[in-house]
Amino acid sequence: MDYSGEDHIYLTAPLDSHRPPMVRRTEIPVLCIVVPCLNEEAALPLSHRCLAAVLSSLKTTGRISADSYILYIDDGSTDSTWEVITSLASNCVSDVGGLRLSVNAGHQNALVAGIESVADYTDIVVTIDADLQDDPWAIVAMVEEYMKGYDIVYGVRADRTSDSHAKRGLAHLHYKLMELLGARTVYNHSDYRLMSHRAIESLCSYEERNLYLRGIVPMLGFAQSKVYFTRARRVAGKTKYPLGRMFNFAVDGITSFSVRPVRMVFVTGIIFLLVAFAILIYVLARYLSGHTIEGWSSLMISVWLCSGVLLMALGITGEYIGKIYTEVKHRPRYHLEQSVGRVADAGVASRQKRRQNLQQQCP
Ligand code: UDP
Ligand code: MG
Repeated sequence: MDYSGEDHIYLTAPLDSHRPPMVRRTEIPVLCIVVPCLNEEAALPLSHRCLAAVLSSLKTTGRISADSYILYIDDGSTDSTWEVITSLASNCVSDVGGLRLSVNAGHQNALVAGIESVADYTDIVVTIDADLQDDPWAIVAMVEEYMKGYDIVYGVRADRTSDSHAKRGLAHLHYKLMELLGARTVYNHSDYRLMSHRAIESLCSYEERNLYLRGIVPMLGFAQSKVYFTRARRVAGKTKYPLGRMFNFAVDGITSFSVRPVRMVFVTGIIFLLVAFAILIYVLARYLSGHTIEGWSSLMISVWLCSGVLLMALGITGEYIGKIYTEVKHRPRYHLEQSVGRVADAGVASRQKRRQNLQQQCP
């Protein structure tokens, strides 16, 4: 892999149908790179080397403040990921911080834990995976877009040839389905993005448990832009999203953004009622003409088809009821166990306090 990509040229484009930026920014921003990690002991030393090189290049060229840093979130790893993070933080205390969640809370919650903890201390946050699949040098182009006045900059994969055929197919289907169901997502964008302070503030006001950041972030508004990059293969370790988990994530994404599936169930019910009415007329006609023995095949097909549709309808409705169940319990999204290096959990504490104050003001 090429780690010296400083002079790469990245294609950028404003997001369609979004308003242009208001003004160019002039102040040098503090940047925090948030990296969620689950069992990434093999990838972390390599990815840290690369992310540190990007950070240092941005600092030396005066594009970001010298206070900028990298924050690793250990999402309940069972290998030595936390030990790696601790040693990185002790080698370069001011540039690296680490948060350890007490149990695996999931990729999206790990990202939120990182974002919430730094929200009060940074001007911009970039979230990126720990496996170097997303080209870290694209952060340079993202910061340039931020300086032009954009609040949200999406890292978009120019192609997905490094993914397996099955994964690529499922991802394509998912984006198309989301589009069909009316949810606004950015095609071929995952969770590699830059967000300005005010975009982060807005994001932190979304309190839902079923988090699907790819759907929420486009809803925030502000001026939004894209940076295209080529997705590489995982630098080391194994994917944490095998097909089964990816499928669950996709279903979660769809059901947290659109109630259209339930409406489709309703419409299907109406269509089936009409068909049943037609069959009733047919059966009556057969009965009156004395041919009631025939029709076994059609009966079997109808029974199986109707049972299938009914079960599917129940499943879809259940999916939404399950979501309501999870939301009303209002459980915390993650628990912090430890922090290291740049003290980051102070941010979480202050945010939680602010939230409590808000709840007291408007019960
Ligand atoms: N990850 C995490 N918690 C999880 C699953 C994944 O923090 O429960 C992290 C993982 O360590 C990686 C990123 O999320 O940094 C994306 O995971 P992965 O690269 O395995 O997904 P893929 O790129 O294969 O879809
Ligand atoms: Mg990956």
